[in-house]
Amino acid sequence: MDIVKNKCKNCGGELIYDAESQELKCIQCDSIVDIPEQNTTIQKKQYHKDSTIQLSETEYTQYTCGTCGRRHIAPKNQDIVNCPTCGDSNLEKNITVEYLPDGIIPFKLNQEKALLCFKDWLKKRKFAPNNLKKLAKTQSLKGIYLPIYDYDFDTSTTYSGVGINEYKDSDGKRHTSRHPFRGNRNDFFEDYVESANTEINSPDLRDMANYNYKNIYVYRPEFLYGWIGSNINISLHDSCVRARNAVANKISSDIKNSMHYDRIENFVCNTTFNAIKYSYLYIPVWINHYKYKDKNYNCYINGITGKVSGKAPKSFWKIFFTTIAVIAVIGAIVFLAYKYSA
Ligand SMILES: [Zn+2]
Ligand SMILES: [Zn+2]
Repeated sequence: MDIVKNKCKNCGGELIYDAESQELKCIQCDSIVDIPEQNTTIQKKQYHKDSTIQLSETEYTQYTCGTCGRRHIAPKNQDIVNCPTCGDSNLEKNITVEYLPDGIIPFKLNQEKALLCFKDWLKKRKFAPNNLKKLAKTQSLKGIYLPIYDYDFDTSTTYSGVGINEYKDSDGKRHTSRHPFRGNRNDFFEDYVESANTEINSPDLRDMANYNYKNIYVYRPEFLYGWIGSNINISLHDSCVRARNAVANKISSDIKNSMHYDRIENFVCNTTFNAIKYSYLYIPVWINHYKYKDKNYNCYINGITGKVSGKAPKSFWKIFFTTIAVIAVIGAIVFLAYKYSA
């Protein structure tokens, strides 16, 4: 792979990945440098018990500058001593990119736009405290490439059980009818994603990750220039066990929900996984970790679509006064109904 050096040919300034143009941009002279074209359809790999994540041929170390806050990436064993941006030596080595993702979805949403998406989301949290909205202005969002596993599951399920209906006849006598059932079905799950880093949990990830998995780029370190990538800290096998359990539970509850009995007894459901395919991807996420009244909150913003996932604190007083208002309205209606019927 021919890697573009992160130095501007024009002025020697640092090149960083620019989300808006999806090219490299010089921080000094604004020159734009192309990242070689490489859209691709990622062929997922067959999963088996010996599957491993491919190691990178070239390893990259990333640094965060304690003075200007910029992040830099450098080939491993070629240590950066001074920050290319501000020249300070206050650098902290943070992450070694040891793994080679099968693909990457490069950032499209810049920080400014991500902050707007976050504010919009906060506005819709009717019970969020007012001062939280002020806090959003100064929040620093971190743009991070998060590692995920993207699975396809081909499943077959057999199930059986007894549906029970209860009813009363005209004399008020209780009756029970029993309806044994059995069946089988096939389900296919495409692009079922699981988190590969504890930075985000899988339900939050699935809530936010409405990416187009058909438009993945071949991984190139250029996409990380000036950004940060997280390493895997959840193994492929652990994540696969979790995903399989979640998928099997989903199928089981789908089957139960499709039946219309009063209750179901002796329900047995067996899902076999005929084929599991996976790929390991880097996805772009703006992360907002913030503290409110000593509690930590996490918010995640999709780096392409701006979709937000996470929790916001609720204001006790807002909930209290809304409840009082609702009770007052109901009280007024009851009072008026009573007055006019009398
Ligand atoms: Zn330049
Ligand atoms: Zn610096």
